[in-house]
Amino acid sequence: PPPAGISVEERESMRRQGVLLTSFAEIYNWGRANSIWPLQFGLACCAIEMICVAAARFDIARFGAEIFRASPRQADLMIMNGTVTKKMLPQVVRLWNQMGEPKFCIVMGACASSGGPFREGYNVVKGIDRFIPVDVYVPGCPPRPEALLHGLMEIQKKMREEPLTGPDAPRYFRKDTTCEYP
Ligand code: SF4
Repeated sequence: PPPAGISVEERESMRRQGVLLTSFAEIYNWGRANSIWPLQFGLACCAIEMICVAAARFDIARFGAEIFRASPRQADLMIMNGTVTKKMLPQVVRLWNQMGEPKFCIVMGACASSGGPFREGYNVVKGIDRFIPVDVYVPGCPPRPEALLHGLMEIQKKMREEPLTGPDAPRYFRKDTTCEYP
């Protein structure tokens, strides 16, 4: 949205004359949407497609998200990419809890979304969204790298549209709330 008091048409007219208008929230959200640091980990076959996204052909660097971090303290995007077994679940939730706010989660593939082909297994979690909040679901078994990039673009869109202040601002931007994670 344009800064308060200026219509989209007025801003476009000024842009054609070489005048750029923006707001602090727009610049702030533009910056964080284009510098996402995903957490570097893989659970199963979907992880191979995620690795492809980081290679030259699909090149996630075009979206400013090429810095995969091995430490959850340095990451703000979790890509849940494969079968979540019950034995792995505590580690996955712990990694999520160790990531600082604001943070986002993409669920990639049928396994992480619902258990996928292993749904009836005694050892598989039937959807990671029962344990951590999910922002975007990417369907497929496995999803194509382009689908994961589309999921990333949805996260970027969400970031760009988040207000920094007011009652509609997410809890991590509000001063009246505290972080619920240890
Ligand atoms: Fe493997 Fe399919 Fe499960 Fe992805 S959704 S981890 S490709 S079985």
